[in-house]
Amino acid sequence: MTRVLVVEDDPQLVRALVINLQARHYGVDAAPDGATALRLAASRQPDVVLLDLGLPDMDGVDIIKGLRGWSRVPVLVLSARQASDEKVAALDAGADDYITKPFSMDELLARLRAAVRRTEDTPLVPETTLVETEHFTLDLLAKKAVRNGREVRLTPTEWHLLEILVTNPGRLITQKQLLQEVWGVSQSNKTNYLRVYMAQLRRKLESDPSQPRYLITEPGMGYRFEG
Ligand code: CA
Repeated sequence: MTRVLVVEDDPQLVRALVINLQARHYGVDAAPDGATALRLAASRQPDVVLLDLGLPDMDGVDIIKGLRGWSRVPVLVLSARQASDEKVAALDAGADDYITKPFSMDELLARLRAAVRRTEDTPLVPETTLVETEHFTLDLLAKKAVRNGREVRLTPTEWHLLEILVTNPGRLITQKQLLQEVWGVSQSNKTNYLRVYMAQLRRKLESDPSQPRYLITEPGMGYRFEG
């Protein structure tokens, strides 16, 4: 049974989440504040955490940092629509994904399944070196990209960027994470690097670079690869 820890201080939302999750055979624990959340995360060993960022006692980002000190449990953040800085901070602290309130239960369940599946599929050392989509194939080991039967030349920087995205399928990677990983910088004024390189990658790999199907922008936040 997959165990979910719901961290949320709105009792009505907690009730709705518990009913829906239990109906789908998840085991559910609920914490109304950060202190309880950290205690339950340690004692109940959940498979996934749903975390509201606005809690009465602690900043949600601090809860993620606390968890990440000892746990790789996937964390799906529940956040208000306006708070995009907060979402980015949560992702940078190690959250796996976010969902904006108000959300539909179906969307939440789909994100939850994806987050759990990713941890199950992702060994510590990635084994997959071949990424295949309908439009292109990447051999990460040989550094070979093929589109429509023809090899596509990518620069080392393009490879590095692409590799991070495709080895985390479906996962939102923040601008800061990409800048740090690829360029060793985190200044937000360097986000134009990212835009330029992502545009190049789309031109080389997407059939319609203006309507990307694989290399998706989350405005103001980051990028994700949809395989
Ligand atoms: Ca709240």
